[in-house]
Amino acid sequence: MKIEEQLLTHLFNCRRVDLYAGKRTLTDEQMQVFSHMKSRLSQGEPLQYILGAVDFMGISLCVDERVLIPRPETEELVVCAIDLLKQGNGSQIRYVLDLGTGSGNIAIAIAKNVLNSFVTTVDISPAAIDLATLNAHENKLNDKIRFICQDMKIFLKEEIFRNKYDLVISNPPYIPTAQIEQLPCDVKKEPFIALDGGEDGLNFYREIISAAHLLLEDNGCLLLEIGEYQAEDIKKIVEASGKYQECSFRKDNAGKQRITIIKR
Ligand code: GLN
Repeated sequence: MKIEEQLLTHLFNCRRVDLYAGKRTLTDEQMQVFSHMKSRLSQGEPLQYILGAVDFMGISLCVDERVLIPRPETEELVVCAIDLLKQGNGSQIRYVLDLGTGSGNIAIAIAKNVLNSFVTTVDISPAAIDLATLNAHENKLNDKIRFICQDMKIFLKEEIFRNKYDLVISNPPYIPTAQIEQLPCDVKKEPFIALDGGEDGLNFYREIISAAHLLLEDNGCLLLEIGEYQAEDIKKIVEASGKYQECSFRKDNAGKQRITIIKR
């Protein structure tokens, strides 16, 4: 759908075909909203922020400048998580930890698709946790997800004495700091802390990989989304830790190695 069509279907709350089926005219008020939306677009604001919503695995989620916009690649990560969680004994509760939850997309899609799952989410941003909680509530999944607002580094340190998980999953910030300036204008409107992976982009992977084995059940898995050129570095970090049996990669639909499966 063209961008203008998306704005109009949003304004009229109708389907694309309905735009052409009958004669629709914008009221003065709608016209004002429409021009405001177009001016936000021309200033490089992402369409999803303007519409205030995004579809993630068939689930409607509210999004705004407080959180990263969920991407289709992450849907592939979640499909992989669902496959892993559905293996084995179907009646036991499957405990999942989602690090850096943002809009709550990963947690919500898992909670919705894996009936016997319970997801713990962590995010350093109170604003993201607010939005993720709202999204869980709107999708009636709030009783299957717990939200923790904390720096994941501190959380990981404390959690090793408390709980174990069948799956730890994350799509952490992974852009090297110096590259953020060169990102397209609309991406730069997303929260800096949701993009910035530190000097080499790998800070969060180091944190997560160094702690996850202590949080995983014996046959648990760590599932990470990674940047296009990070597979080799991730493999090295995993091997250097000496704590995992296996580290493999899956290609996304675009043929890029974007999913890492690490077995405890
Ligand atoms: N988990 C969220 C997502 O996958 C947020 C990720 C982030 O903020 N880096 O979209």
